[in-house]
Parts: sequence; C-alpha cells; structure tokens
Amino acid sequence: MAEVFRMIINGRSADARSGETFEVRNPANVDEVVGVVAKGDRDDVRDALRAATTALESSWWPRIYESRRRGKVLQRYAALVEEHKDRLARLLTREQGKIYRESVGELDSLVSTFDYYAGYAGKIAGEVKYVRDGDSVIKVETRKQPIGLCAAILPFNFPVSLYAWKVAPALIAGNAVLIKPASTTPLTDIMLTSLLQEAGAPPGIASIVTGPASTVGDEILRHPAVKRIAFTGSTEVGRLVAQAASPALKHVTLELGGSDPTVVATDADLEMATDTIVRFGRFRNAGQSCTSVKRVYVFASIYERFVDMLAKTTAALRVGDGLVPETDMGPLNNEQQRLDVERFVADAVTRKATVVAGGRRLEEGPYAKGFFFQPTVIVDVPDDAALWRDECFGPVLPVMPVRDLEEALERANSTPFGLGAGLWSSSDHTIERFIEGIESGIVWINYKPLSIPETPFGGVKDSGHGRELGAEGLAEYLETKSIRKYIGKA
Ligand code: NAD
Repeated sequence: MAEVFRMIINGRSADARSGETFEVRNPANVDEVVGVVAKGDRDDVRDALRAATTALESSWWPRIYESRRRGKVLQRYAALVEEHKDRLARLLTREQGKIYRESVGELDSLVSTFDYYAGYAGKIAGEVKYVRDGDSVIKVETRKQPIGLCAAILPFNFPVSLYAWKVAPALIAGNAVLIKPASTTPLTDIMLTSLLQEAGAPPGIASIVTGPASTVGDEILRHPAVKRIAFTGSTEVGRLVAQAASPALKHVTLELGGSDPTVVATDADLEMATDTIVRFGRFRNAGQSCTSVKRVYVFASIYERFVDMLAKTTAALRVGDGLVPETDMGPLNNEQQRLDVERFVADAVTRKATVVAGGRRLEEGPYAKGFFFQPTVIVDVPDDAALWRDECFGPVLPVMPVRDLEEALERANSTPFGLGAGLWSSSDHTIERFIEGIESGIVWINYKPLSIPETPFGGVKDSGHGRELGAEGLAEYLETKSIRKYIGKA
C-alpha cells in the first residue's frame, strides 16, 4: 500500500474536503505508486487562507520585534531537515526522477538557504534620519513590515530548492505562506511543510494545499487575502499569473523559462568547460533546469575538437534509476516532457541536423517502465530550428560554431529569454565585453550554473521579473512604511 500524504492546513494534516485523492508515480518505474495525495480544491485553499489570516492577526509571528524568534524557528527547521535528509532525498528521487546525489544537493541547498535567511534575525531594519523643514525639525523613519499572506507556486523540476527560495525569506520577514507544489512532485514539499510545524511555526503560518492548477492554483491567484505571489514555472503560465494578479494589484515575482546560452572561446580551459557543461550544465536533472546550458556557441578554430569532447563525455553518461548509485542521469519527470524533447530532436533532424551523441528515447529492459531519454548532442542545427528559439526542457544540447565574440553575443541574445548565460574564456577583455553585452539576469564565468543564497537570482525579457535569494530576495517580502514625525522648532 502506498503511503498517504495529506495537506497541511492550520498546522494539522488535512484530507481534501471532497475526500478525493490522486497518485504520484515514480518516473523511473510508472508501476510504482510513490504516494497517494489529497486532491484539494478551492474550499481547501480558502480554509488555509482563513487559518493564515487568523495566525497573522493573533500570533506573535508577524510582530516587527520578533525576528530573532522567527530566526530560531528557521534554524531549528534547517537542523530537522538535515536530520531527515536521507529519507527526504530518497522520496524526492522517487517522485521527481533526479539522481539521489542531486536530491541530496537540493536538500543541502534548502538548508543553506534557511541558514542564510535565519542570519537576518534581528537585522531587518529601516532607517531613522532628522531633517529640517523650514523652522521645523522632522524625524523621518522607514519601517520594514511583512506584506502579510504570501503564496508560493512551484514547478516540478526543483521542488525543494525553489521551496526554500520562497518560504525562507517570506518567513524570516514575518509573513504567512501558502505553498502549492506541482502535481507530479508534491510529496517532499508536504514533508518539508510538516517539519516547519515541528520547528515551531505557529499553526496557519505555513500551509500546503495540493491539487489541480485549474482550481487550487486559480483560487490562490484570485483570492483577495493573498497579497503576494512568488511563481516559478513556464513563461506561458507566468503571463496568466501576472494577469490574474493584476486586478488586486498583488505583488508578483515571476521566475520563468530560459534558453541559456554558453559561449566557449578559443582561450578557454576546454577540459573543464566540457566536464562542467556535460555533468552539471546540460544533463543535471535530465536537462530540466531553467538555467541549464541550452545552447552552446563555440569559436570556430576549436569547434570540431570541442564537439568531439562534448560527444564523448556525453555518450559515457550512465542513464538509469536515480536510486542506483552509478547513475549519472535519471528519467524525465513525465511523458509529456519526453514527447516535447522528442519533438525538438525530430524538428532539428528534419532540417538536416546531425546527432553526435544519443538522440532517442530508451525503452528496452530496465528502461521499459520509465520516461528515459538519451543525453543528446546535436550539430549542424539550422537557424530556423526550434532548439535555437524555444526552451527545450530536457537532455538535448545543440552546438554551433561562431566567428568571434560579437557573433556569439548576437546569437546568444537572439531568443526572447534572458535568464542566465555562461562564458568560458581566460581573457579579461572577452569576459568584460560578454558581461556588458549579454542580455541576461545572471552570468556564469568559467563556472557551473550554480545558485547561491547570498546572491540574487532572476531573469530579464521573457524570463520574468523580480529577484529571489540574497538581500534583494528578502526585500521582495517586506513593505516599507515611511513615517514623518514632528519633533519641534529648529
Ligand atoms: P508550469 O508553468 O507548467 O507550472 C508551474 C506551477 O504552476 C505548477 O505548480 C502548476 O500546477 C502551476 N500552474 C499551472 N497553471 C496554472 C494556472 N493557470 N494557475 C495557477 N497555477 C498554475 O511549469 P513546470 O512545467 O512545472 O516547470 C517548468 C518550467 O519552469 C520551465 O519553463 C522552467 O524554465 C521554469 N523554471 C523557471 C525557473 C526560474 O527560476 N526562472 C526555475 C525552475 C523552473
């Protein structure tokens, strides 16, 4: 019998009011039901929002002088997650598909993010100044207050780290948060929300409602009690979120799709570039990362050698169940993802592209029950192929030669997206010109596309707006109240 996962509403485990449930299956073996989950609807969202409103009105949590107490909850929580890390990582691999090592990495990133924001305890402060207005002295003050009730809408690809990016700053700032995970990956997020209760968050401050986007998601977007929406997901849904949030003028952060380019210059460390692009950049999480390396532009004089290196390293990756220690890459999260990836490859091949590694789904033997696809490198992809234009959310890497940095920049900037971008070069001149010319919110120089709590994350153009992580990520969860107080005559 598969384990039952209930929602967390008002600090307690809750079945859906309707009593309905849905199944979450293992993408490496669809015969395995990993969990049976409450199928919430609009009524369950309203229950969670009522509980959150009561908690904000009557508990100690949002008071501006209680940030040290909130910080202690965040620290206890980080310790609890650390204690349960192995169990949570196994669950994450079984529901999401990513390899165990990467699941542990996601949990480490969650712990690190909570630890980072716990460090703001006692340090969330405005400013006080004294100014003269004619012959009057005025004390002017800015006070940083929580926004109130915030929602976190999460995608299926990083259910744990993206949870932390939203929940940790929301909580240290004194807000309540309602979490809606993706329907294929709700289980680890339910466990994580249950640990928040154990860590001491007052009932109602952190809730999770699972269920369809069309009811649970839609109710969150439209309900007037929700003051802020942090959304991570596709650009298409991001536009709907922005529209739905606009009548009530809700605060919105949109972390959307990306088609991140990486440029490899002649003077790059080619070994390190190859290893990083293959092992982390493109094929981590089976290519389902917003900041995956989705296009590579290589200076012409090293192009053939570099393609050869990429193809060999990629072909050596072992695909399989993420719980098997030798596996380098797991399955895609669901069949729709695999069909989309196949469409990208077929579109390129029809236009006379050449596959130099991988290129097809895996269905035989141990792969029969999962959504496996070979890690793929593809060259001679013409300009009009979808791979250069749209976001391919799977393990396919197109590579193209370029004359010089200016051509690389022009091509890199040629999509509607602007999330991240990478450069491999040892020349300061090339590096500085790249940073100046690239249209992206994040830049990685001679390094993997890693996210770090200390520094903001977010995109430009169709990749969204607003920032998560760092001091800017915290500022998104605070209102500034500006106060002028008459002191007396100068
Ligand atoms: P998605 O847009 O399909 O879904 C994201 C979340 O929104 C899910 O919880 C889904 O249930 C919910 N949702 C869908 N329709 C909704 C609606 N009408 N109203 C309310 N909620 C709704 O995205 P996905 O397929 O889960 O994730 C993949 C996408 O996320 C990719 O485009 C990827 O690039 C992007 N992503 C971006 C970042 C970033 O930080 N920029 C990070 C990770 C993933």
